[in-house]
Amino acid sequence: MFKEIKEIIAGTGLGLMIFLIIKGVDITPFLLLAGMGFLAYWVIEKKGLLPSTMGGKGYTPPVKVSFADIGGQATAICELKEALEFLLRSAEVEAMGIRPLKGILLSGPPGTGKTLLAKAAATYTDAVFLEASGSEFIEMYAGVGAQRVRAIFNRARELARRQQKKRAIIFIDELEVLGGKRGSHTSHLEYDQTLNQLLVEMDGLKSKHDVQILVIGATNRPDLLDPALLRPGRFDRQVKVDLPDKEGRLAILKLHTANKPLAQEVDLEAIARETFGFSGAHLESVANEAAILALREKSPLITQKHLMEAVDKVMLGEKLGRKPAADELYRLAIHEAGHAIAGELLRPQSISHVTITSRGQALGYTRQKPEHDIYLYTREYLENQMDICLAGAVAETLILGSRSTGSLNDFKEAIRLARVIITSGLSDLGVVAEENLTKEQMHNASTTIISREEAKVASLLRPYQGALKALAGQLVEKETVTGRELRALLQEQAMAS
Ligand code: ATP
Repeated sequence: MFKEIKEIIAGTGLGLMIFLIIKGVDITPFLLLAGMGFLAYWVIEKKGLLPSTMGGKGYTPPVKVSFADIGGQATAICELKEALEFLLRSAEVEAMGIRPLKGILLSGPPGTGKTLLAKAAATYTDAVFLEASGSEFIEMYAGVGAQRVRAIFNRARELARRQQKKRAIIFIDELEVLGGKRGSHTSHLEYDQTLNQLLVEMDGLKSKHDVQILVIGATNRPDLLDPALLRPGRFDRQVKVDLPDKEGRLAILKLHTANKPLAQEVDLEAIARETFGFSGAHLESVANEAAILALREKSPLITQKHLMEAVDKVMLGEKLGRKPAADELYRLAIHEAGHAIAGELLRPQSISHVTITSRGQALGYTRQKPEHDIYLYTREYLENQMDICLAGAVAETLILGSRSTGSLNDFKEAIRLARVIITSGLSDLGVVAEENLTKEQMHNASTTIISREEAKVASLLRPYQGALKALAGQLVEKETVTGRELRALLQEQAMAS
């Protein structure tokens, strides 16, 4: 709207000038006036005083997000609600001489619902909600960031008064950009001035003010924040917003599928089990992609198949139309069959499905479903994981007599796992400090582990060469084989031998 008005004024002005020139009028005074007007506008804009640039996105109209719309964050919600009581009961807080709560820091991985929590906090406390990102405060021009910090606090007060509300919540996402450790930016002092201004504004917040302001900051990197921000009286409440566990993932999936037509057979618990490590944003995307897949297939209901495919899409990316040549496809199938059979032998019932459909960076993949969420790994677990990684290359050697570049990422993962074994004190080196190991010692230790595991996988898969070929054949024929089909094939092979 603002842009359109600007364009209309500029267009009319230009037309008027041309008209005056044709009429033979001296337009120098008009030009001078226009120049001065432009200069004034430029200064005001750069100082962050225009509504559009005042505190980033400025006022967001009441978004009715409540705590009930957030799944799997029971602890964070509980801690946040507890802190918000300070805001709701500000009169009692003041009577007891308790320092008002000025800032809450939400920290955790991306997409876990920090913005949602801040919005729900505004609904819960009946506060106006202003949202800005740390990067919006930082400009090339010295002093602009500080101006914008001042402006967003003023705007919060002004809006609350206008809407006759007693509270305002200012949500600053990516707080580490604005609140990074002072002195860490060498280019100029703009960052430091902006942070200082935020500290000044927060120090000035009092419970006796007519509008109570609470600043909620969100960051993925609390370690980068200036210690002054975490001092009591600033962001002195920290709420951790973690990736959801299985129950949490189920709750989030239920929330995001509530408005979608699900088939009777849909088992959201199975999807929750398969999505360890997914954030709320990933799960929202799974529900959305599943609906898109159903729509594409003209299916009136979303089925389990759509949801499973959506998980693959969110995890690995869109299906690619790549069609490898027949011999390459067979090699790929043998490679994946190696991962899948080793996975099933080492961890029975663990393979969800195996496919040679290319997605994102992966030419094919084998998806394992963990029995439960895992937070601690034993040496045996890590070695088995390494065996499953190496099994693709080992199967290629056993059946085709040579390896290919398709194992590059598997080897990278195997090396990473070997390092984890060594640095966690689980290797034959015993408990060692990583920094005391030379590059050569680290290399030798990880090569020893990997060679040993490679030999182990080769002897594990050698008796299953028939199964490897049979599974590869099925994969070439139908691209995807489910865990159940794989288990049936292994059973058949066992009975035949
Ligand atoms: P970032 O750190 O990247 O800013 P964030 O933690 O602020 O991310 P949100 O912006 O709150 O994450 O979440 C993005 C989207 O993901 C939400 O709009 C919502 O659809 C979904 N989502 C994330 N977490 C949850 C959750 N716990 N419950 C329900 N939906 C969620």
